[in-house]
Amino acid sequence: MSEESKTCQECDRPISNELQRFVFQHQLFTFVFLANEYECAECKRKRCMKFFDNFGKHFIDLDEHKNVIVNWLLCLEREQMTKTAELLAALKVLSLCSEGNWLILDNRGQSMNPSTSFQHLYFTRREDALEYARLKFSDTGHSWEIVHIDKTISREDVVQKE
Ligand SMILES: [Zn+2]
Repeated sequence: MSEESKTCQECDRPISNELQRFVFQHQLFTFVFLANEYECAECKRKRCMKFFDNFGKHFIDLDEHKNVIVNWLLCLEREQMTKTAELLAALKVLSLCSEGNWLILDNRGQSMNPSTSFQHLYFTRREDALEYARLKFSDTGHSWEIVHIDKTISREDVVQKE
């Protein structure tokens, strides 16, 4: 990828280099998306909201305290987990951040969490990890476990300290 101005693969408009993340409201939900270098914020917003309206809203809801609730049974029946994971990360049900969050691991230490095409994700809530694992992996032939990641140390913190 060259340093000069990047353009959106969808609409050809230039993509701002400054924009790191963007937030918007849609049907009482608050979405927080990270910017990327191949899709402008507007195209990403439109694409994700179309997916939410046609698909995600059938199993994503809000409770009376405006907490996001996911019907994992309906979610898994409908598949399309890669795109769904992107929505759930924007709603903070899943996160790029590992610290303080939950991870389903197989017996070789590989993540069994949902992921987008290019991002590993973690459950932010214990009950979602439990429900997802129970529904999806009850019948697997190998063992697995759910771990809570208590503390992480960043590469910067490890390398820079003398
Ligand atoms: Zn665009």
